[in-house]
Amino acid sequence: MATVRDRLLQEVNPGKAVEASAKVTIVGVGQVGMACATSILQSNVADCVVLIDVMKDKLKGEVMDLQHGSLFLKTARIVAAKDYSETANSKLCIITAGVRQKEGESRLALVQRNVDVFKHIIPDLAKYSPDAIILVVSNPVDILTYVAWKLSGFPSHRVIGSGTNLDSARFRFLMGEKLRINPSSVHGYIVGEHGDSSVPVWSGANVAGVSLQSVNPELETDEDTEGWKGIHKQVVDSAYEVIRLKGYTSWAIGLSVANLAHSILKNLRTVNPISTLVKDIHGIKEDVFLSLPCILGSSGVCGVMKQPLKATETKLLQHSADTLWNVQKDLKL
Ligand code: NAD
Repeated sequence: MATVRDRLLQEVNPGKAVEASAKVTIVGVGQVGMACATSILQSNVADCVVLIDVMKDKLKGEVMDLQHGSLFLKTARIVAAKDYSETANSKLCIITAGVRQKEGESRLALVQRNVDVFKHIIPDLAKYSPDAIILVVSNPVDILTYVAWKLSGFPSHRVIGSGTNLDSARFRFLMGEKLRINPSSVHGYIVGEHGDSSVPVWSGANVAGVSLQSVNPELETDEDTEGWKGIHKQVVDSAYEVIRLKGYTSWAIGLSVANLAHSILKNLRTVNPISTLVKDIHGIKEDVFLSLPCILGSSGVCGVMKQPLKATETKLLQHSADTLWNVQKDLKL
């Protein structure tokens, strides 16, 4: 008996099932994973978004909820994966799985709990998507990017951490608020560790190429009466503050990750501060991942900017590297 479909249309060429040239897998459908998913879906850069989580009912519910919005989206398929085989041939794998910081808990304190989570995730992702780019968001993000690099066996340029892309966005927002200029026109980078030992590169902060330090040489000192130096402290404290107020952070990291996904899937070669292997850069000797301005495209990190740093900034960066290495060297992978 003919189906409604048969009666409705004359098949000409059934076409292939969705050939996902821009397939994105998101591991973890918690607050961060879902914020990444909605931001990526709304930026129309993926043709298939696969979500996976150990909490099967939550996964199913979240994916159904997203699928019900398909009418308003331009992503052909949204999938709740039963196992990792459904993530096969992803172009980009975003890891947001793990336990999150409790109120007052540092990102570094989370580490061993999340290393164990990664052991259940990364080998399977690497097996089914051997050419993917892995983008780590789970905290402590720099150490877990190192862990993902080790567990995947991928070349380092294909394993990146969301790093200080978010910290730099917060930095630019706060500077923009002070200047009453949109953050997109206020330039400045926070490099190093995503977190407590991050380094603001005040020497590079500018609007339209006009260095803020050239108009106020006391910018990052206690002599400055406008409190510019305090902006970095606000950046460092902001995650703790948002967690204190609402229990977790989600929207800004989701938007920041979608921004990175856009560069990767469209091969934009934008410059983003993201966590990359920094051995032999700025005098760092160990295998640590820290954020520096990187050129980001479809093959991952295409280059690292030779950003001139002041001696004090380099020292702070090396201090970040030492802090991370001291935790990393004792990890059991
Ligand atoms: P959450 O608790 O809401 O969600 C975590 C999810 O991971 C849960 O759904 C859980 O079931 C899932 N999960 C746990 N183990 C898993 C496994 N083995 N496989 C698949 N899924 C698994 O937490 P959240 O608020 O979404 O935060 C997630 C992570 O992102 C945390 O580590 C948090 O610190 C980090 N984070 C990073 C940034 C950043 O800027 N890098 C910003 C915010 C949060």
